[in-house]
Amino acid sequence: MSWSFETDSEFQQQLDWIETFTREEIEPLDLVFRGPGDPWDPNSPAAKAMAPLKDIVKKKRLWACHIGPELGGEGYGQVKLGLMNEILGRSRFGPSVFGCQAPDSGNAEILAHFGTPEQKEKYLQPLLDGKIASCYSMTEPQAGSDPGEFKCVATRDGDEWVINGEKWFASHARFSEFLLVMVVTNPEVPIHEGASIVLVEKDTPGMEIMRNTAVGPYVEQGDGVHGYIRFTDCRVPHDHLLGEEGKGFLVAQTRLGGGRVHHAMRSVAVCKKAMDMMCERVQSRTTKGELLAAKQMTQDKIADTYTQILQYRLHVLYTAWLIDKYKEYNREVRKEIAAIKAATPKVLQEVIYRAMQVHGSLGVSDEVPLMNMWANIPELGMVDGPTEVHKVTVARTVLRDYQAAPGLFPTYHTPTQREAAMAKYGHFLE
Ligand SMILES: Cc1cc2nc3c(=O)[nH]c(=O)nc-3n(C[C@H](O)[C@H](O)[C@H](O)COP(=O)(O)OP(=O)(O)OC[C@H]3O[C@@H](n4cnc5c(N)ncnc54)[C@H](O)[C@@H]3O)c2cc1C
Repeated sequence: MSWSFETDSEFQQQLDWIETFTREEIEPLDLVFRGPGDPWDPNSPAAKAMAPLKDIVKKKRLWACHIGPELGGEGYGQVKLGLMNEILGRSRFGPSVFGCQAPDSGNAEILAHFGTPEQKEKYLQPLLDGKIASCYSMTEPQAGSDPGEFKCVATRDGDEWVINGEKWFASHARFSEFLLVMVVTNPEVPIHEGASIVLVEKDTPGMEIMRNTAVGPYVEQGDGVHGYIRFTDCRVPHDHLLGEEGKGFLVAQTRLGGGRVHHAMRSVAVCKKAMDMMCERVQSRTTKGELLAAKQMTQDKIADTYTQILQYRLHVLYTAWLIDKYKEYNREVRKEIAAIKAATPKVLQEVIYRAMQVHGSLGVSDEVPLMNMWANIPELGMVDGPTEVHKVTVARTVLRDYQAAPGLFPTYHTPTQREAAMAKYGHFLE
């Protein structure tokens, strides 16, 4: 049996380097490039600033290192990625500089598993090299959480699929070379047997981005990065179907599971950053003759924050460890992924709120990054499925291991249990 909470010293050295590199070279990017697509858009002004940083990461052999060696990565697995992401997530640019950014990392996995050799050559390699962006488009304007309501269809016509319908919140569609689109290929059967994923290249006739929706109040309306797309008789070749027809959700699982864990890993970094700010502030600010740090109500906040982050972090790393162990998204793995996905917005909410509170007016101002962190929380309760749906998954999986009590009273009914216990040990009382 092995059970450990240690990082081996060799990898720890790499993590120490990542920590310094992130603080000194990557976090300043956040202060200069504020466009909503900047970390992902290969044509944004930030891309030029990021290029030399990416080269350094590649030389250090830390680029896309969760991806297997057959695809040019280091095959480090999810635990190591978790340890890296809990540093990289301090900056919006961190994952992109290290080649592990969503949604490209998940899309690459789909292409690697299901793409044709031509698709791999044309899209996978440039994607893995960080030269192009990609989009995963599943949500529709009338339905997100419930795929049973999806209506965007693809019908077969000779050697082509003809797509008709609408998609919503397709992140990065406006600068992606290709989109992986979930379509209904057989409306006669339940959606989990009738949906497929097709690759649609940018500028394919019949695909129109109607709007680019923005998240939060800080972006010009319409200048966001989440595409509202209409497909009208949009034709793609037959071999652009990824995986088997009707097995779209199986294909999607390749990316959605991993994606959810990666959000959580990055959120650990955000929590830690908020705690760092909080701890520095309370050691710096004096009120009523003493430091904020000396006040018990502040200490209560510090203790709760520390404990909450540690619990959350260990849960995230445990989930990463499970994925590495099982190498598939089995029921046990899915339960933990759903649990940490549901926990994420709550932990962020409580941690960031406390950090803002101890900063007073400065905490809610535009002079510290806390309000930006705060504004990002709600999206984490929705992206890749809302909290409620993940909680249902957790509860259902947990309840599978329980049955109703055999009699009128619960199994832990004290009088009944005591009677049995007395029969076993009662004679010692005599
Ligand atoms: C920043 C951001 C980026 C995104 N990027 C992408 C992307 O790239 N590609 C893509 O396809 N989609 C993307 N999405 C969409 C995301 O996947 C959906 O928002 C999510 O699946 C929920 O769907 P919906 O928005 O239609 O909400 P709905 O399905 O309408 O749900 C609304 C609310 O109803 C409640 N609810 C729903 N189901 C249940 C239930 N079973 N039990 C109890 N309550 C329930 C919840 O409170 C939920 O938040 C993105 C979303 C955000 C915020």
